[in-house]
Amino acid sequence: MSTDLHDLYQEIILKHSREPKNSGTMDNADGEANGNNPLCGDRIVVYVKLDGDRIADAKFEARGCAISVASASMMTELLIGKTINEARAEGSRFIDLLTSKDPPEVADDDELAALLGVRQFPARIKCATLPWQTLAAAMDGSETEVTTE
Ligand code: ZN
Repeated sequence: MSTDLHDLYQEIILKHSREPKNSGTMDNADGEANGNNPLCGDRIVVYVKLDGDRIADAKFEARGCAISVASASMMTELLIGKTINEARAEGSRFIDLLTSKDPPEVADDDELAALLGVRQFPARIKCATLPWQTLAAAMDGSETEVTTE
C-alpha cells in the first residue's frame, strides 16, 4: 500500500469517528441490539427501522474506539436502503475482508478499504466487526447481547 493511500485511509477513519453518520437513538425501532467487545471496551447499540424487507433507517450509539465508531458509521451509510438479505451479504463480505486468509478484492475508493489495516492487528478486527454483528442481531429482532468473546 502506498503512503498516500495509507494517509487517505487514516483520514477516512478519523472523519467517520469524529463525526459519525447516523449516530443517535431511534424511537419506534423495529429492531435493536446491544454489542459488546470486552477486549477493547467497545459498546454499541444498533437500531433499525424496516420497510418490508428493506432497511429504511439505521442508527447507532457507540462508546468505543475510533475503529468501532468509524466502522459503524460506514456501515449505516452503506446499508440504509438495502434489503435485509443484501445487508447480510455485505456483512459477511466485510467480515471476510477482515478475517479471510484470501480476502476478496476491494476497490481503493471503497471507504471500507480504509478498515483493512486492522488485518495486521488481530485484536482490532473485533472492533471493526462488532457493529456489523450487532446490526445482524438487530435485524433478527433477537434480544440477546452480541459479544465478541
Ligand atoms: Zn475497539
